[in-house]
Amino acid sequence: MFYNCSVEPITRLKLLTDQMHLEPAEDQKPVCFTPKQQRETFVHPAKLPNGQNIKLLKTLLTSACERDCYYCPFRSGRDFRRATFKPEEFASLFINLHHAGAAEGIFLSSGVAGGGVRTQDKLLDTADILRHKLGFRGYIHLKIMPGAEKAQVERAMQLADRVSVNLEAPNTERLARLAPHKTFLEELLQPLKWVDDIRRSQPAHRGWNGRWPSSVTQYVVGGSDESDLELMTTTQWLHKNVRLKRAYFSAFSPIRDTPLENKSATDPLREHRLYQASFLLRDYGFELEELPFVEGGNLPLPTDPKQAWAQRNLQEQPLEINKAERSELLRIPGIGPKGANAILKARQVNKLRDLSMLKKLGVVAERAAPYVLLDGQLAPAQLALF
Ligand code: SF4
Repeated sequence: MFYNCSVEPITRLKLLTDQMHLEPAEDQKPVCFTPKQQRETFVHPAKLPNGQNIKLLKTLLTSACERDCYYCPFRSGRDFRRATFKPEEFASLFINLHHAGAAEGIFLSSGVAGGGVRTQDKLLDTADILRHKLGFRGYIHLKIMPGAEKAQVERAMQLADRVSVNLEAPNTERLARLAPHKTFLEELLQPLKWVDDIRRSQPAHRGWNGRWPSSVTQYVVGGSDESDLELMTTTQWLHKNVRLKRAYFSAFSPIRDTPLENKSATDPLREHRLYQASFLLRDYGFELEELPFVEGGNLPLPTDPKQAWAQRNLQEQPLEINKAERSELLRIPGIGPKGANAILKARQVNKLRDLSMLKKLGVVAERAAPYVLLDGQLAPAQLALF
């Protein structure tokens, strides 16, 4: 049940944003918060999909939750001080923070209280008040609750710039080990499918600012002993079939007084490797089978996955920078989509003959050097190896 709380709003906001640093949303600038700062910081610097940097308020509408996900600090029955806002109350607090310059956008989630449908309605009402009563035209990222209905998903898409459904795990079996009362297909995957159905079936009806919102998801990495292969298989399916914009990977970290409190934390480097691999699938034309999984279905931790692929495939057969297709250039470590485009443009004018020319085009030349030929010649860094 949502319950009234007499604690003053800013104190409540701090209670609700505590632990929200665990929830990745948008691209956050790396900020090293002390535990005390983590408790007191409710606005995070974030980079939006359009590249804009904003102060993002990440919070819950309520930290009361009737579910009991094994990894979650907000799980039902856990003893800690909870707090709740009513939609009008929260919208008014946020708009005041916004007008004071303290927050430019919002990531709004919630514990499940009174069922997924009722909880979703509270989130929707909050966003609706912000957009239509208070005239807020900034960034809103709305969470879709497990159990939400299709009409609610569509309403969320009319109000938000981004919507998200946290899958938490890559499949039904793994989810059962993390959140036994969530259903993978019906409660979590289905809403992501609805988002894409709505975008496809109503191309003329768009969101509040003329575009349908993007959709993202999040996994708790290592919480269910899943492999990187399982995570990447689901991620690739989501990119291809429901046009997921982005998967977020959150390394499992044990929380006191939860069933997984004695489980070891996941190495944050694994989280980093998963991001790198997901970008290879999404932006670099790699297929799942090409990722350099090792025994057990995990990515090697010591090496960037693109580097590992290049060591296996390009070390003996370096690519000629002046002739390679764009898709081939993207396989070379140190060359991203912008660098590949710059190379294609530059070589129409001049042959690329040395690493300094690549550097000027935005390529990390030292990383590319072992895998390229420049006008038929090995790059100097590569020659040094011989
Ligand atoms: S439903 Fe959400 S808030 Fe509730 S226990 Fe599960 S992860 Fe936590």
